[in-house]
Amino acid sequence: MTAKCIFCEIAHGRIPSVRVYEDEDFIAFMDINPVSTGHLLVITRDHYPTALEVPERILAKALPLGQKLAKAALAGVGATGFNLLVNNGPVSGQLVAHFHLHVIPRQRPGELPLKAGEPADLTKLPFTATAIRDNL
Ligand code: 5GP
Ligand code: ZN
Repeated sequence: MTAKCIFCEIAHGRIPSVRVYEDEDFIAFMDINPVSTGHLLVITRDHYPTALEVPERILAKALPLGQKLAKAALAGVGATGFNLLVNNGPVSGQLVAHFHLHVIPRQRPGELPLKAGEPADLTKLPFTATAIRDNL
């Protein structure tokens, strides 16, 4: 637990949240500023700043739980698609430094402010791939 972490406060029940699910490792609750109807957050009970710090044993459970909640959210709000999203670090747009998975049911294009990428420079792509491969 980190002082002043709002999601730790929610996990410990010191700040209210509208919960939809919990188990020994995770709590899922409604996002207070949803980008779409049914936008959920799945947080770890324990404090990990980003996906890099979450133990593999717990991280391995996050995607199946995201799937379970997405199925329920799609049925519950009548959406036809969804995004599963994890922001990691301020540059990615992460505002709350406690690992969380966004489950975002989608009814309309444009609800998420994602911009399309540019075509890759094919002379540089192999070097970028090598730089990543070298760090595996
Ligand atoms: P991030 O940008 O860190 O990936 O997303 C943080 C999310 O947490 C945002 O979607 C924001 O609306 C949500 N959020 C921030 N504070 C609270 C809170 O006190 N309660 C709830 N339910 N959601 C919060
Ligand atoms: Zn925390």
